[in-house]
Amino acid sequence: MTALLEVQDLHKHFGGVQAVDACSFTAAEGQITGLIGPNGAGKSTAIDLISGFKIPDAGTVLFEGKEVQGKTPHIISRMGLIRTFQSPREWPGLSVLENLILACFEPRRERFWRSLWGPSRAEKERANEQLTTARAVLDEFGLFQLRNERAGNLSGGQKRLLEFARIRMAEPRLVILDEPMGGVNPVLGERMASAVLGFITAGTSVVIVEHNLPFIERVTDQVVVMAEGRVIAEGPFDQLRGNPAVVDAYLGEMPSYDDADA
Ligand code: ADP
Ligand code: MG
Repeated sequence: MTALLEVQDLHKHFGGVQAVDACSFTAAEGQITGLIGPNGAGKSTAIDLISGFKIPDAGTVLFEGKEVQGKTPHIISRMGLIRTFQSPREWPGLSVLENLILACFEPRRERFWRSLWGPSRAEKERANEQLTTARAVLDEFGLFQLRNERAGNLSGGQKRLLEFARIRMAEPRLVILDEPMGGVNPVLGERMASAVLGFITAGTSVVIVEHNLPFIERVTDQVVVMAEGRVIAEGPFDQLRGNPAVVDAYLGEMPSYDDADA
């Protein structure tokens, strides 16, 4: 098993708060790695440090063996590591289909737009191919009927599915999802789970932060548990259930088991 992502001794403080404190873990190629822990554990900050949205005080992030800490999100995403945010981000005024086309990596995207204005036959064909792919991806995520809808009009769950579809178009090596079930109606749980599992089939490895533990249990191969900025346990979900440190970390916080039949 190859470590696609290797986080070593990462630190980040905000004033007097040590948000991430000697955090180390790995995520393997071809696997879904869960990152869980109570509110304030430092999960989102860790993602910010890994994806270039914040600069660590210390520590190393290796992606495919290359150091990426301190690089810009733009460079890191071009290397094949992309992340989502706790609130979905879309271009609200553009259609669902246009949002998908914009998700392609720049060289492909440029070719697409250029082909519309300065059409050589080869470029037109490439643009058509991209449209065909976009339509197929929309169909797979159950969004095809909504392709001409303004993305801003979608429900919370549909925006998440659109975000997943955009990731599929971008074809990264690794995606980090920050609480993708947040704001999503539990009836979409099944579709969200198959979407996450579908990334693996498409060749994209996954790190997922999620409060919904049944969802984590269902989709992950390995789980990393954080508390107070540190990793306190690692392993398959089943093996963590009885771990006293994990139970302690969650005391005082009710994990959202109410979504159990999502
Ligand atoms: P999680 O995602 O696990 O809930 P966060 O990474 O959001 O945790 O937060 C970890 C800690 O860092 C919390 O105590 C939070 O209040 C603090 N924190 C996060 N971002 C900032 C910030 N930009 N400025 C100050 N404190 C922050
Ligand atoms: Mg968070």
